[in-house]
Amino acid sequence: MGAPDHPTMRLSRLPLTTLKETPADAEVMSHQLMLRAGLIRMLAAGLYSWMPFGLKVARKVETIVREEMDRSGAVELLMPAVQPAELWHESGRWEQYGPELLRFADRHEREFCFGPTHEEVITDIARRELKSYRQLPVNYYQIQTKFRDEIRPRFGVMRAREFVMKDAYSFHLDSASLDETYEEMRLAYCRIFDRLGLEYRYVRADSGAIGGALSHEFHVLADSGEDEIVYSEQSDYAANVEQAPAPAPESPHTEPTQELQEADTPDQRTIEEVSEFLGTPPEQSVKTLIVQGEEDGSLVALILRGDHRLNAVKAAKIEGIRSPLCFADEAEVRKKLGCPVGSLGPAGLDLPLYVDASAAVLSDFVCGANREGVHYTGVNWGRDANPEQVCDIRNLEDGESSPDGSGPVRSARGIEVGHIFQLGDKYSQAMNCTVLNPDGKEQVVTMGCYGIGITRIVAAAIEQNHDEQGIIWPDAMAPFSVLLCPIGADRDDTVRTTAETLYQQCQEAGIEVLMDDRDLRPGVMFAEADLVGIPHRVVISPRTLEQGRLEYRHRRNLDEAEDAPVDELLEFLQARIAPN
Ligand code: ATP
Ligand code: MG
Repeated sequence: MGAPDHPTMRLSRLPLTTLKETPADAEVMSHQLMLRAGLIRMLAAGLYSWMPFGLKVARKVETIVREEMDRSGAVELLMPAVQPAELWHESGRWEQYGPELLRFADRHEREFCFGPTHEEVITDIARRELKSYRQLPVNYYQIQTKFRDEIRPRFGVMRAREFVMKDAYSFHLDSASLDETYEEMRLAYCRIFDRLGLEYRYVRADSGAIGGALSHEFHVLADSGEDEIVYSEQSDYAANVEQAPAPAPESPHTEPTQELQEADTPDQRTIEEVSEFLGTPPEQSVKTLIVQGEEDGSLVALILRGDHRLNAVKAAKIEGIRSPLCFADEAEVRKKLGCPVGSLGPAGLDLPLYVDASAAVLSDFVCGANREGVHYTGVNWGRDANPEQVCDIRNLEDGESSPDGSGPVRSARGIEVGHIFQLGDKYSQAMNCTVLNPDGKEQVVTMGCYGIGITRIVAAAIEQNHDEQGIIWPDAMAPFSVLLCPIGADRDDTVRTTAETLYQQCQEAGIEVLMDDRDLRPGVMFAEADLVGIPHRVVISPRTLEQGRLEYRHRRNLDEAEDAPVDELLEFLQARIAPN
């Protein structure tokens, strides 16, 4: 008995609306292509409907994540999206979380939020369910919709307000047990991204407010990624640039050889312009950035070598500097300091100077003179300006020494798709989540948490896998594996019956097949096929059928057609579809 025909695998029955024009407000390729290929539709800022093709892809990601979580020994549950404020008061996050937390009241004026994450709810579950150390360790996970009122929702589902996350939370009697589960999660994540067919890296992450806690991020590599990561080619060192220490300068600064002098720089604004004009290299100059200090209304100056880039996360961790880093308003700077931001420099500047270590070893350097159109040359620390503090506030750059001493680092851009984190007792302590330990005493449990952005992965996969024509799905994520394209089926019976037979055969063999039975002109049909990105394409045309052949192309290699035998198409396709 043959498998039942699923009419929804025929494009005549599956409404697919693609767009030829690039939507104007979509900045990145994945957002443009998801709209153009009809995968998603926007409802409001940061809110998207998943259309049939898009949903199929998201479900594939979900399935792989679920399978690997189950394989790791984690257990699935499902928590409500809406959470009572009381729990957030207990953890202290009702006050801390800020406007990203969507808060509202019910008809009884009781306060709630739409969950951006579920530490409070799961810790509440754990303190009720877990009584004895014998029940540990346990790792609960769910795949569920989150809401974060992101300040700048953008890039479509990549940074949405409503999105689907897999979040897991593990509970342990001690940190050795947490280490074990943490490692299991790391391996599970590697299996997930391997199976999805994505190029990724896991990196040491900024441990944020909880100093020292172990944390790794998983990044899908893509030029458009919001994050920068650095990694060594000689060792397994890899880190988010937010937490990679810059190498200490090799030599201390030398004695001044030049006098402080003014130089007119009437039209030179940027470091490059000034350097070229004065004939000094950018690394012989410093730049000055003004940010808010820790005290309300206070300002401080950050000083970096001219060719270096500020690392906002490192800077915000320094005492005396407001966290998160907040640049001073330009108008305020002009009013308080009497010149535009671009004319500032440390010599004669009446603000605390936080000087990057590489800038602090310069001598005879160039900087703004705190007057419009003037720079200083021959500036020297000690004589002309004094650092409040010398610190590491810059990015580690491509080609510099790896912090583990293994050689130079490479830098790459990435999209954060997963995050694993050793929480310790932050929530269990605050919410009194204890179990009886082997000595019969109440003991606060230790926790880990592990997130994966299911819907962000769909966008990240497209960022990594596309060309001018459209999406190129990795096999594991493709909405369908095979696209059958009959040419002229309305005029040619052999084409139509062959296509129908192949379609049936594929279905019976469990190959996910889509049939384009809309009798479109070939040019239109292929342009849409290129856009939608189904990896394996079979064209059934009268011309090749005469010779008992079909034409096969892989979406990644549209220029290379292969002959496929009509009577052994299944074997031919099965050999080409990556096993999953
Ligand atoms: P980001 O730094 O990108 O805002 P995050 O550190 O806030 O991420 P987590 O709280 O660790 O993210 O959430 C776990 C995962 O959820 C992230 O790794 C990411 O894949 C996904 N995610 C987070 N925020 C969003 C969002 N606004 N839209 C889509 N996915 C998201
Ligand atoms: Mg975030």
